Amino acid sequence: MGAIVAIVGRPNVGKSTFFNRLIQRREAIVDAVSGVTRDRHYGKSDWNGKEFSLIDTGGYVVGSDDVFEKEIDKQVELAIDEADAIIFMVDVESGVTGMDEDVAKLLRRADKPTFLAVNKVDNNKRLADAVEFYSLGLGEYYTISSINGSGTGDLLDALVEVL
Ligand code: GDP
Ligand code: MG
Repeated sequence: MGAIVAIVGRPNVGKSTFFNRLIQRREAIVDAVSGVTRDRHYGKSDWNGKEFSLIDTGGYVVGSDDVFEKEIDKQVELAIDEADAIIFMVDVESGVTGMDEDVAKLLRRADKPTFLAVNKVDNNKRLADAVEFYSLGLGEYYTISSINGSGTGDLLDALVEVL
């Protein structure tokens, strides 16, 4: 089996939209409503001639923020164990949330290549808003739009470098 890349992050940041774009096959369930039970989805992708398996994490069950947080942490720990690289997705529309900070804390401790993807940067007006994600302590971030694809090339260029 080739390299494994996991996409982690709290619900509704756009993980499945990004996943679907990359695997060019609609396998993951995309849902605008928080709290729907979602599974882990696997797909194959390639970029610059490098093949990799992509994991779209989800599997959150409806519940309090507390339950969400535990589920997300579990997915992040799984990803740290099994993936060769991790894409940590956040949402420029909502800005930094407590759950983002939680995930960032786990990832900072792990010795795993991590790519911070600030999603929903659909236009240049939103570029400036992304700077607040420096506060997560993960260094440089990639601004992307999973809906229109902008910025995803730069992210993938950097990603496959470490695979
Ligand atoms: P997930 O829960 O992290 O897998 O998020 P989804 O992929 O299900 O997306 C949640 C919502 O955000 C959906 O309504 C998507 O259409 C929307 N969304 C995803 N990516 C983008 C983006 O790049 N820009 C905008 N404006 N909305 C997006
Ligand atoms: Mg999803």
